[in-house]
Amino acid sequence: MCALAKAGAWSLNAAARAVIPCLWRGKYFSSGKEPVENNPVTPMLRHLMYKIKSTGPITVAEYMKEVLTNPAKGYYVYRDMLGEKGDFITSPEISQIFGELLGIWFVSEWMANGKSAAFQLVELGPGRGTLAEDILRVFSQLGSVLKNCEISIHLVEVSQKLSEIQALTLTEEKVPLERSAGSPVYMKGVTKSGIPISWYRDLQDVPKGYSFYLAHEFFDVLPIHKFQKTPQGWREVLIDIDPQGSDKLRFVLAPCATPAQAFIQHDETRDHVEVCPDAGVIIQELCQRIELTGGAALIADYGHDGTKTDTFRGFCGHKLHDVLIAPGTADLTADVDFSYLRRMVQGRVASLGPVTQQMFLKNMGIDVRLKVLLDKSAEPSLRQQLLQGYDMLMNPKKMGERFNFFALLPHQRLCGRSQQINAQQSKPSPSPVAGFSELAWQ
Ligand code: SAH
Repeated sequence: MCALAKAGAWSLNAAARAVIPCLWRGKYFSSGKEPVENNPVTPMLRHLMYKIKSTGPITVAEYMKEVLTNPAKGYYVYRDMLGEKGDFITSPEISQIFGELLGIWFVSEWMANGKSAAFQLVELGPGRGTLAEDILRVFSQLGSVLKNCEISIHLVEVSQKLSEIQALTLTEEKVPLERSAGSPVYMKGVTKSGIPISWYRDLQDVPKGYSFYLAHEFFDVLPIHKFQKTPQGWREVLIDIDPQGSDKLRFVLAPCATPAQAFIQHDETRDHVEVCPDAGVIIQELCQRIELTGGAALIADYGHDGTKTDTFRGFCGHKLHDVLIAPGTADLTADVDFSYLRRMVQGRVASLGPVTQQMFLKNMGIDVRLKVLLDKSAEPSLRQQLLQGYDMLMNPKKMGERFNFFALLPHQRLCGRSQQINAQQSKPSPSPVAGFSELAWQ
């Protein structure tokens, strides 16, 4: 039976979603953009100024890493920045349909890969756990399909605050911190539907079993290096103390070549580039794992294919925010360079995309799913929320074209060797990969 026909049985879960409009991070300029006049001296600014005074200007990557994930003062570590009351909104927080379609994608890939007896769902940067919750609801609803499969959930999260929220969302309990020294798992529990769930700070710590990986709006927060082409060649953009203003930071150019310059392509034609070596390390780790054990990775983010230049920006309270002002109080982000991710794959696995969110969700059957939910909801405010959510996700002027989907799959998946060979055929034909072409579900 078609999964989307079955989807009629799924519950409507729209009540908790955000009331639109809120600002999504893929956007460059919010209509309510206001200049930030004051520059409060935050604990993070004091820490950075001390650091710069001691050892000199820092790279943008070092700045981003400190500001976002410093264990004592980092922006991500102790707050919930998502949703209406936070700084930005993401697709899973807008509509339940987003996570449901991603859930179908994983089940579809699990089937196409030969229905393994067990798999791990590994999510990088799970935010509030909303996306995982929507995916798990699909897994429960498709229980008859997945009934003999042993599933476990593995969340990679650096934020103490968000991991607490994820635990409440997914297990409905406060999960205590693990005490056992030496274990990379810092929290462990069981989801509402009885699936074991574990938390890690680093992908490297997740067991290397057969896995499906998910990263939604994760790569854009990884630290980037920025470079400017000058008559003397490429120079890295650094952050220094501004001699003009007390307690102010400014961008400067490195006086000579810096080590990160090795990441710039020798035939680069842009005059400003951003490179994210941490993204390369994570892609290589994913490729190594998929090459070794199979599975797949689905990466969704806003980004470009090696064409954009200066995309580094900040968000605070649903407004664009100067990245150097009041560090630690605002989100910092940069567009994901999918051409760089593809290069980092180095042919070890197959990559698909990037395709636009609009195309991916359309191929996954978003229109059918919307209709099912609309038919089930009599309440006008819920119907309006569903329609507004659909528009936000799909409209090319909103998230539809700015956000992209990119997948990593074992080479065998695309040449059909993992399929059961049909006795009539000498060569099996692989089923198309859903989202990147229309969902075809048996
Ligand atoms: N995927 C979620 C949240 C996106 S926000 C959604 O779409 O709603 C980015 C997420 O990545 C947050 O959960 C943040 O705490 C986490 N994060 C940021 N840097 C990280 C890092 N270096 N390692 C692991 N998680 C990180």
